[in-house]
This record gives sequence, structure tokens and C-alpha cells, in this order.
Amino acid sequence: MAYSYEAPVSQTLFDRASLVTPGGVNSPVRAFRAVGGTPRFMVSGTGPYLTDADGREYVDLVCSWGPMILGHSHPDVIAAVQDAVARGTSFGTPGEGEVALAEEIVARVEPVEQVRLVSSGTEATMSAIRLARGFTGRAKVVKFAGCYHGHVDALLAAAGSGVATFGLPDTPGVTGAQAGDTIVLPYNDLEAVRAAFAAQPGEIACVITEASPGNMGVVPPLDGFNAGLKEICAANGALYISDEVMTGFRTSKAGWFGIDGVRPDLMTFGKVMGGGFPAAAFGGRADVMAHLAPAGPVYQAGTLSGNPVATAAGLAQLRLLDDVAYAKVDAVSAEIRGLVSAALDKEGVAHTVQAASNMFSVFFTGGPVRDYEDAKRQEAFRFTPFFHSMLAQGVYLPPSAFESWFVSTAHDTRAVERIAAALPAAARAASEATA
Ligand code: PLP
Repeated sequence: MAYSYEAPVSQTLFDRASLVTPGGVNSPVRAFRAVGGTPRFMVSGTGPYLTDADGREYVDLVCSWGPMILGHSHPDVIAAVQDAVARGTSFGTPGEGEVALAEEIVARVEPVEQVRLVSSGTEATMSAIRLARGFTGRAKVVKFAGCYHGHVDALLAAAGSGVATFGLPDTPGVTGAQAGDTIVLPYNDLEAVRAAFAAQPGEIACVITEASPGNMGVVPPLDGFNAGLKEICAANGALYISDEVMTGFRTSKAGWFGIDGVRPDLMTFGKVMGGGFPAAAFGGRADVMAHLAPAGPVYQAGTLSGNPVATAAGLAQLRLLDDVAYAKVDAVSAEIRGLVSAALDKEGVAHTVQAASNMFSVFFTGGPVRDYEDAKRQEAFRFTPFFHSMLAQGVYLPPSAFESWFVSTAHDTRAVERIAAALPAAARAASEATA
């Protein structure tokens, strides 16, 4: 396999992993299938850098797929974790840390009156959908093509992220019954939503959407799209669920809600709120959340929910995320976007860089990219040599053309200079690529 010679220790680890783990990884996109070559096995992270098992350092533009908004090993987060760990790792009882994290979320995101902590974004969206169905007494769920909400059975129809990467229309193992109540519509198309409600009056429990999608690449909602969804849901007795697992506490202090101000009935969170640990949440209207066990009849539970170490990490990270921090992440994101675009322009490579505050991605097509169909029309074959050139020069990009790039407060001038130095050769490689 091309490129494998560059990382002999990673390759050995990958060979070992492949014997005991399907595809050698614990989450598909990590396997580099879309770009080929040897997945880098990382051994440490500091600030904006990752170091792999071969001892090579990379500027990290993945940031663990979003969570590491303060960079790796932030001293305050590490101290909070060490303090928590020293007191025990899991009690299976309530604890003060989870109260404090819930209070922080409620204080930041106004539509969240009550919140339930869980361990992954998948769990959050799965639980929010169940709650919406329990609350409304209806079965059907509207989602949008290219939006990924974790690997929830009912939501794995036309999903983005790894599903987009591999071009899987669906997945074996999800039965017709599980997917049958899911209505998949084109993103940014309010007419399609109106038509779905008109065709199935009184049957749709909720519309779930990424607050600003990042799983088909970054495709922000058109002006008025989220507000339109909210309005249509309200008019039809359905709940509007905004999935902020990726955007929450990343795109602003109050996530995407802090930007568009559209008030969801339910919201889901993950990634940043866990500080690099498995912590996630769903929350929203108190009258809806009151339907959740033990307050109400809709069951939901978790052995490790509100884990003391995870909540300590999340709380420490959120407390550091003030206006100054967001301004810093936004600024470095804008700088890197400008550099990428200039390098590709110089080589005459058709592209569109789309951003949702500091989240961004590069599509190898003249834009705009407004939905999943647009995203799939890009010349993804140009991304492969671009990616490998950056990797060889010490810049770690998401190993797929359908993902958001992420930066952190730790991405400083030195890190940006490294990216800038790598871009000309990568842009040339993209321009020379053939399908
Ligand atoms: N929702 C969105 C918008 C996501 O981006 C993701 C993961 O990338 C999820 C849900 C699922 O979260 P997790 O991977 O923690 O299960």
C-alpha cells in the first residue's frame, strides 16, 4: 500500500489491530480507507500538536473531531481530571460534578431548561428521538440527507460522516421497521419539509437537524432555514430537535443557538462539553424533559452517565471557554481558511471553503455547497494527494473530503506557519490529481 513506508511503527500497530479489531480501528473513518495509507497511531498530544508512534509530530486539524478546542493536554483540564481521578472513577450515584456541568449547560444555552447527561452523542440523539416520540405519541422522524446524528438505527439513512465517506446508502443490520419511520429530505429545502408534513398529518414526532451541518463537510443552513423548521414543527405539533453535538460550545459560547437564536424544543450535545472524555447530553423544554424517567414514563439510563472524571474534564474545559477564547479560535480558523484558499487558487484548483464560525471544510468544487448532492459532486479524488502531501509535511487533516476541519485556542503562529509552509506542495498535488 502506498505511503505505508512512512510510518513503520504505526503500520505494525495497525497490522496487530487488524487481527483483533474489525478494520483495525474502533471508528471507521480513522482507518484511512478514503485516502489510503497507514493510519497514524498517536501516542501523545500537546497544544496544537500530535505525536505518532514513529515519533513524528503533526499540527492537528482534527482536534479529536471537535472536542479539543483548547488543544491537547491543557493544564487546567489535566489538573481537573487528576483531581477527580484521585477521588475515584465511578460511583453509580449522583455527584456534585454532574450538577455543576448541567448548571453550566443550562446557564449557557437558554432553551435548555433541563438536561440529562449521557456518554456519547449517539446516545444523546437516540434518547432525544425516543423522548420526542414518547412526548408526542407519534412515530415518524424527519432527518436530512448528509446530516449525521451518530449511529442510531433510525438515523442511519442517508447519513454523512463515515457513511458519506464510504458512499453507503444505508447499512445492513438496520431493519426496514427501524428505518421505515424515518423520512429523509434534502437539506436546506423547506418546501420538502412542508410537503412531508402535508403528506403525513399528525404522524411526525420531530424534525432532527444538525444545527449547522459538519458531517457532509461544512454546509451551513441558509438564512431562515432553521427558523422555518421551527415554525413548521410548531404549526404541526412536532418537536424541533437541534443536534449540537458538533457545534455545541464550539461555534460560540452557546453553540449554534448563540449564532442563529432559533429556539429548539430539544437539543443534543457532546464533543466539547466532555473535554476529551465520553460525556454528552440532551436537554431542552422542561415540560418535554419531564417525560423522562424517573420524572416521567420515557425510559433512559446509563451506568457511566455523569461520570465524575468526564464531568470534571468537561466543566474545566467549558469554564475556560469565554469570549476571548472563541475570538481566538475564530481568528485562527479564518487565517487558515485564507491560506488554504490562496494556495489552491494559486494552483488553479476549483474549490470552495465553507465555514460555520470556526468549523470549516474545503470542497474541491466551485461552490456553493448547499446540500449533500452538491457535496458529493466535488472532485474528492483531489483530496487524497492533498491530504497525503499535508500529512507527509506534518499536518494532520481529517482523512476524508466530507469532514469538518477543527482548530483550537492552542493553534499559534508556529502551528499556522507550518500549515502555510505545507500548503503549496499539497495544492500542487491536488491540481495534478486525476480521477
Ligand atoms: N451528532 C453529530 C452532529 C455528530 O457530529 C456526531 C459525531 O460526530 C454525533 C451526533 C455522534 O456522536 P458520538 O460519535 O459521540 O456518538
